[in-house]
Amino acid sequence: MTRAEQRIVYFDHAATSWPKPPEVVDAVVRAMGEAGGNPGRSAHRLGLAAARTIAEARTAVASLLGVEDERDVILTPGCTFGLNLVLAGSLRPGDRVVASSVEHNATARPLARLAAAGVEVSVVQADSDGLIDPDDVDVAVRARPTRAVVCQHASNVTGVIQPVGDLADIAHEHGAVLIVDGAQGVGHLPVDLTALGADAYSCAGHKGLLGPQGIGALYLAPDFEPEELVQGGSGGSSGDDGPPTGRPDRYEAGTANTPGAAGLGAGATLLLATGPEIWAEERHLTRRLHEGLLEVPGMRVLGPPPGVERVPVVSVVHSRLSPDEMAFALDHRWGIAVRGGLHCSPWAHGTVGTRERGAVRFSVGLGLTDADVDLALAAMQELCS
Ligand code: PMP
Repeated sequence: MTRAEQRIVYFDHAATSWPKPPEVVDAVVRAMGEAGGNPGRSAHRLGLAAARTIAEARTAVASLLGVEDERDVILTPGCTFGLNLVLAGSLRPGDRVVASSVEHNATARPLARLAAAGVEVSVVQADSDGLIDPDDVDVAVRARPTRAVVCQHASNVTGVIQPVGDLADIAHEHGAVLIVDGAQGVGHLPVDLTALGADAYSCAGHKGLLGPQGIGALYLAPDFEPEELVQGGSGGSSGDDGPPTGRPDRYEAGTANTPGAAGLGAGATLLLATGPEIWAEERHLTRRLHEGLLEVPGMRVLGPPPGVERVPVVSVVHSRLSPDEMAFALDHRWGIAVRGGLHCSPWAHGTVGTRERGAVRFSVGLGLTDADVDLALAAMQELCS
């Protein structure tokens, strides 16, 4: 069999979900055809159809996230953009921010830039599974006046689910806001932002939300008003020099990514209908994979043991083979797509002791089956024995 004929067994859903559901693909195509005008600008039928597409996507995402007022959902180019917007828009020189030691570069790098500009960044150490203890965050926040606590909802390296509800309580008790990186949370777990109490929650559209790349959503609590990151045309208030003050326009300058929003909306709509079933299957496959990988000689699985709830991510290191060797062999010999290396998360790898070479990450999602897990486990047994 040539490589082109080999079936792809896709275990890289934490990087981006694939294949996209047909509903998502159809919605993207529709948005480039019958809804192909400029949303919020032109008042002809194509422009109105585009505006309707955006509005419907925002409504679907707000429902999925348990957000009461959909104007609090800002459409962004992705999770990274949302985190940059909130961090740069709310932290000023002299402010203090408390972050965890397992944050992704989407948080760590904006924080490094802010630290260079005079923001104090205090890092709370997670344990060797990558889990944050709320008591440690409490101690850190009590130490000095703190403007914000920043934490991921779930780890793209260990799969650990962080106690973000407790962190919201701690932050608020001390007059700070909680900013959550939701890239690996939403789309794999039920998320109710009204109950959670986060002040900002940034989502990637292309992972668990099943949408296309280049689109995301940022929730901002009604009383949290960071500065906008970019200024430009908004379709309304065009005679004013300054940006519009209302949501979501203040944060959405420039022509929207209507096809992306359409796909995101379709993904969110699918999850509203069938999310719990998809997530139950993901949990089942993740647990089988996790238990099976523990049986492979010389294998260490990062994060908590089977039985502790995690998002569908299982990362491994082997006593002899490097992550890159394993990832390459899985792809070339079995058509199994995984991600090796540092996963844009050197902090997390440093925390769990894999900073030098990273790990091989299997991440599960829609479309994978028990047979695919069996194939992955057989391949790992053969490769590592
Ligand atoms: N945070 C985490 C935990 C992630 O896994 C990712 C995606 N790798 C991001 C942030 C950034 O998401 P995006 O690249 O889609 O902006």
